[in-house]
Amino acid sequence: IVFATGNKGKLREASEILGEGFELVTPADFGITEDIPETGETLKENSLQKAQYLYDKCGCDCFADDTGLEVDALGGAPGVYTARYAGEGKDFNANMDKVLYELSILGEGVTRRARFKSVITLMIGGQPHYFEGTLEGVIAHEKSGNGGFGYDPIFIADEYPGMTLADITEEQKNEISHRGKALRAM
Ligand code: IMP
Repeated sequence: IVFATGNKGKLREASEILGEGFELVTPADFGITEDIPETGETLKENSLQKAQYLYDKCGCDCFADDTGLEVDALGGAPGVYTARYAGEGKDFNANMDKVLYELSILGEGVTRRARFKSVITLMIGGQPHYFEGTLEGVIAHEKSGNGGFGYDPIFIADEYPGMTLADITEEQKNEISHRGKALRAM
């Protein structure tokens, strides 16, 4: 099945989670290398937009994942802007720095509660089907760990206090993660 992503981290996790019964193919594998547009106002709209775009191009069954980080003290930001929070360069270090900085200027007492949400759109015969997963946690005070991708070095899941998603193993992350839940539901 085609996974509408160019994100290597997402691809690695999805392959692991779906297991040996599936072979994942990406748009790049058949020459679609442009950025798939995501201009919606919600994760669900973006998830559908990506899957629909690919379906219209290749006519094949496929799925897309749109993921956002919601930080309560930032009014739910970065949310739908998670990939480009610090600018169009989609620099994940700059994105994490911006979240840490914005929380730091709100002061010590502020809640660091946050969550990742994934919405997957599975396109089968042109019909969309939606699957969601959420992971609750808090934003760390500094980056830690070498695993995972994206915002993982600053996210501490409730299931692993004191460790970021980049400190735990990929297997541990997949067991509890937003993406793991959504993909297993799919
Ligand atoms: P999008 O779903 O491709 O729009 O990506 C949203 C943003 O969230 C990107 O900056 C990703 O790096 C980040 N992201 C997506 N999934 C995860 C995750 O599981 N952990 C940390 N960051 C993630």
